[in-house]
Amino acid sequence: MNIFVSTKETQGHRKNDFCFVPDNEPVLFGFACDCESVDGKCGCKRSLVGVYCHTATTTFKIVNTPMSKRDYVERMIQSSRDAGWPIDKNKELYSVVYEDIQEILSIAEFFNDGDILERRGRKIQTRQRRS
Ligand SMILES: [Zn+2]
Repeated sequence: MNIFVSTKETQGHRKNDFCFVPDNEPVLFGFACDCESVDGKCGCKRSLVGVYCHTATTTFKIVNTPMSKRDYVERMIQSSRDAGWPIDKNKELYSVVYEDIQEILSIAEFFNDGDILERRGRKIQTRQRRS
């Protein structure tokens, strides 16, 4: 199964790159501001969020993991609890989080192990490594 993890590879290809997530930490969509543009100051529409550190990165890559989908989903849901989201008290919030996890897994299937990626709004695309 393919998942997204943080990487510092290709950081600096865009002037507004940043990476506050340790390498190889799984990343997910965070909650994005409504009025933010992709290259806006906040950065929430061009980054994914580390599931343990809860900070963001504009660069991430595909890793093929032997982890089961069920274990992965449970870990991701736990990370939302750890971040303080009241997902067990709020069914709607729980399903938003759950669907985001499913979405990110289905997007990850379109890429190959080791691909370096970036986010542009709701779009995830590959970056070229510079030699
Ligand atoms: Zn934002």
